Amino acid sequence: MAKTVKNNTLKLKFESSRNLAPAPESKSAAKISERYDLFIDGKFEKPLSKKYFDTINPATEERLAEVAEANAADVNKAVEAARNAYDKTWKKMAPKERAKYIYRVARMVQERAREFAVIETLDGGKPIRESRDFDVPAAANHFFYYAGWADKLEYAFPNRQAQPLGVAGQIIPWNFPLLMAAWKIAPALATGNTVVLKPAETTPLTALKLAEIIQEADLPPGVVNIITGAGATGAAMVDHPDINKIAFTGSTDVGKIIQRAIAGTNKKATLELGGKAANIIFDDAALDQAVEGVVNGIFFNQGHVCCAGSRLYVQESVFKTVVQKLKDRMESLIVGDPMDKNTDIGAINSKQQLEVINTYLSIGQKEGAEMYQSSCSLPKKGFYCRPTIFTNVAQSNRIAQEEIFGPVLTIQSFRTDDEVIEKANNTPYGLSAGVWTDKGSKIFNMTTKLKAGVVWANTYNKFDPTSPFGGYKESGYGREGGLHGLAPYLNLV
Ligand code: NDP
Repeated sequence: MAKTVKNNTLKLKFESSRNLAPAPESKSAAKISERYDLFIDGKFEKPLSKKYFDTINPATEERLAEVAEANAADVNKAVEAARNAYDKTWKKMAPKERAKYIYRVARMVQERAREFAVIETLDGGKPIRESRDFDVPAAANHFFYYAGWADKLEYAFPNRQAQPLGVAGQIIPWNFPLLMAAWKIAPALATGNTVVLKPAETTPLTALKLAEIIQEADLPPGVVNIITGAGATGAAMVDHPDINKIAFTGSTDVGKIIQRAIAGTNKKATLELGGKAANIIFDDAALDQAVEGVVNGIFFNQGHVCCAGSRLYVQESVFKTVVQKLKDRMESLIVGDPMDKNTDIGAINSKQQLEVINTYLSIGQKEGAEMYQSSCSLPKKGFYCRPTIFTNVAQSNRIAQEEIFGPVLTIQSFRTDDEVIEKANNTPYGLSAGVWTDKGSKIFNMTTKLKAGVVWANTYNKFDPTSPFGGYKESGYGREGGLHGLAPYLNLV
């Protein structure tokens, strides 16, 4: 990165990064079968539906494998296996013995980290650097962390008796497939529940790899069941009468369908839904660091992140400087082959999601906002989107109100703290926010007034298994992670 002085302002030049030699990760690190069946009662079983669907690599549009499609009868079989394992084995097992199994899974995920990272990138399109350095280590850490809680629940909830709920039905999205499986399975097992988990239709492969590990780890059959399918499979899980708890991460629309479906039953639920986070830069912030935080906030994982900082608010006096710095930085981002270790922004997860994003790009322009995209070229095959920012945005614009779930940022200016708090909170969502300022007092003022489950200060997208995560308003309810993540899987008496 070179620095030049232009018009008395320090300008950062990044263009050399596009000239890096390719550094591809090898596909051979991953063993992917031609066909995957359903993982029920400790075995891979052919689906009663007799149906399979393809999972493809969104970076190349090539087929990776075919995967079983579970129907209601398959769901029933998985729930029966989970109930049986709960009654006969898991709930009776000493907590420290349960912990040993969870530790074993954690260690095996670590041992096979490279294979998991390659499969995650091939199946979902995220850069290998991210799956290698974030998704897989974070998933292993989650299993380690909750393994530690299994025999300490009496300390987590003093003077109360912690009882498991029974069978948990867990439905996860396509943006962090292995990590979401870990977020769901680890606390459920640590608290003594058994599990039926459904990964998203477009990204089933790392969950199925995890099923292989669970088999190798000798977890008692039926404690974890992993079934694949689309929305109908998820709906059959939600409707199954013998499931005690639904844990869902995904869109707000499906969250509402689930809430309606379980109303009047005694199923418990945690819903981790969408977001439209405000990332706020004050004029006293360290601007170069803040711009890095904005880039991480919106372009990490192609913007397929529920807590993505997708609305940027910049204090008026530094607005032009920040926008220019951001444009310069966007020019340096490498968009392309997710298997290349240099790549910053990989493939959009599916053709369908690319269409959603492109629709929002047209909506934004029709609404009168000014669109800027980096000048990079995109691969001919696969689903890709240039990093995009919109200026001249009104608070009421759809691009500023609705979750786009892509590498698309809206930018608005503000003058006072009160104004930006009002604007930041003016959304149906409340999952996360970011604040960039030199003043600790301003951080405390903002964090108490921003209606969001997580507020990051002078950083963004920082995750830790010990830290609770979850939303307000249409971003859902219940918390995952930390001590708070245990309670939704327990009856406390
Ligand atoms: P969905 O909410 O549809 O998918 C999440 C999970 O729910 C998937 O496993 C899905 O199955 C399953 N599902 C779908 N319909 C039902 C149903 N009726 N009952 C039970 N389970 C169901 O998200 P999409 O993949 O359709 O993405 C749409 C939008 O949702 C995105 O553009 C984004 O805005 C948002 N989203 C938010 C996420 C978050 O982390 N908050 C994650 C993913 C998406 P399958 O996908 O296999 O059909």
